[in-house]
Amino acid sequence: MPSDARNSALHVQPGVAPTPSVNSQLRPRPRQTRTAEEYVAGIQHGDRGVLSQAITLVESTHPAHQALAQEVLAALPPAAASLRVGVTGVPGVGKSTFLDALGTFLTEKGHGVAVLAIDPSSTRTKGSILGDKTRMDRLAADPNAFIRPSPTAGSLGGVARRTRETIRLCEAAGFDVIFVETVGVGQSETTVHSMVDFFLLLALAGAGDELQGIKRGIMEMADALVINKADGDNRTAARRAKAQYRSALRLFPPTASGWTPEVATCSALTGEGMPEVWSLIERYRQETQASGYFAAHRREQARYWLRQAIEHHLHTRFFSDPAVQAQLPGLEQAVVEGTVSPFVAAQRLVEERAAKDAGGQHPSEV
Ligand code: GDP
Repeated sequence: MPSDARNSALHVQPGVAPTPSVNSQLRPRPRQTRTAEEYVAGIQHGDRGVLSQAITLVESTHPAHQALAQEVLAALPPAAASLRVGVTGVPGVGKSTFLDALGTFLTEKGHGVAVLAIDPSSTRTKGSILGDKTRMDRLAADPNAFIRPSPTAGSLGGVARRTRETIRLCEAAGFDVIFVETVGVGQSETTVHSMVDFFLLLALAGAGDELQGIKRGIMEMADALVINKADGDNRTAARRAKAQYRSALRLFPPTASGWTPEVATCSALTGEGMPEVWSLIERYRQETQASGYFAAHRREQARYWLRQAIEHHLHTRFFSDPAVQAQLPGLEQAVVEGTVSPFVAAQRLVEERAAKDAGGQHPSEV
């Protein structure tokens, strides 16, 4: 109906300037014109614009972007000494405030600080690192700091891979302390643990239920447990909680690093306790570097990520194969009907794919 169409909001009325279709707030798209060498040079110069674009490339699922990202990563020389610190804790514990306080303390000492986040749920909007301008406002305005919100889409594995590659880019750009923040409610802690040197758990002094809400597995991973909000009326409770956590941690088996997990208190709001938290992280670095654990741990992580990358590669290749895509629905049906066992079906499909890779003829093509 033409007259309705004219009155529709979709119809551009004469004399009304159309609103710009490009949202300037959107993340920059990687410019296809930049070569891998240009990215590498820009990153090494500490050019934040180029660094951001390189991270966008790493996060992109577009095959051309991925290829370029891998070229950039491969061309980067080994980064100078860095320290990667994972920070976890339940929502509201004060992670953003803490990172703002500790990060600022560190940039004042001459460090370059990058803050990355792993949040595969991507449902955090209010608490998300993106919306944390108000809580990380000092760090966001700090020329020696770089804050990157969590890549929004994808599985935990995909987000983790991209975060790991982003760590590499940030280190090459000269940031020597990398924080990886994760919300302490799920599986993501294990993933963060597999990419950091030091794992810090932020906790709160609760009313008699200090150990509640924090899974034992997460406690066991922690190199330090820091009780935040130790200010005002909360000081005494925080001190008490510190003693309780300390005795609880003693019950855990000794760690592979030989390091005894530390318990500390701080106030992210006032900045109290930041020097102490940093000095215990520094002590960890010194001790584990002296024992050789620090380097051994990174080698172990590299091995783990190699395996992760292989799995990812095989998985993607397998499921994107047109022959697999063509056969899978039929096999699924047969499995559902019980005419073929899932294991036999899987074996058949995988072996056919392998035979094809090896240059053999597909059985159905014979
Ligand atoms: P996150 O969800 O873990 O990132 O927590 P936020 O950093 O957003 O902090 C949650 C709330 O706790 C905010 O209102 C902060 O102002 C407050 N908060 C954070 N750290 C402290 C602290 O050390 N003391 C007090 N009193 N409040 C704090």
